[in-house]
Amino acid sequence: MNAPKCPICHQSDIGILDGQCAVCRSCSKSKRCVFQFCLECQREWPRDASTTESCMLPNCALRAALLRDTIISDPESSVRGCPYFRACPGCHALITHNGEGCPNIICPNCNQEFCFRCLRPECYDNEDDEYYDDYDQDDPEPELCVIVDNTEILQHLGL
Ligand SMILES: [Zn+2]
Ligand SMILES: [Zn+2]
Ligand SMILES: [Zn+2]
Ligand SMILES: [Zn+2]
Repeated sequence: MNAPKCPICHQSDIGILDGQCAVCRSCSKSKRCVFQFCLECQREWPRDASTTESCMLPNCALRAALLRDTIISDPESSVRGCPYFRACPGCHALITHNGEGCPNIICPNCNQEFCFRCLRPECYDNEDDEYYDDYDQDDPEPELCVIVDNTEILQHLGL
C-alpha cells in the first residue's frame, strides 16, 4: 500500500490516530481546526463519530475499493491496465476480473454484462483487429474501447 495522503492537500504529512482515522497536519494548520479524514474512503471524518475504528459513512468500503490505485498488471490479462475493482453499472456490486477470456464480464449479482475496460454494457471492440480491416468508411466510426477510471461511477453513485 502507498503512503497515505490527505484527500484535500495530497500531502503525506498526516498522523494516523486510531483505526481508520487520520489527521492532516498541514490542513489542520491552514483551517485552524483539526482536519480528520477516513484512511479508507478518503472523506472527512464525521465530527459526531463515536468511534475511530470506522468512519460509519455509507459505502465506505465500496468507495475505498474503487479509489484504490491498484492496476491489473498481468501481461496475459485481457484487462491489463484496468483498476483492480469495478462497480457493476447495473447493481453497483464490487467486481474484479480474473483476467481470463475477453474483457467482457457478467455480474454474478444481477447478470448484467459489461466491458471491464470501458464499462459499456455492449462493447464489441475488444481489440478485434479484423474488424478494423473490414472497416467501411460509410459506417459510423466504431467507438473505441478505452479504459476508463472509476471517477465517473463514483460520481454517479454520489460518493
Ligand atoms: Zn491536507
Ligand atoms: Zn470511510
Ligand atoms: Zn450487477
Ligand atoms: Zn470496452
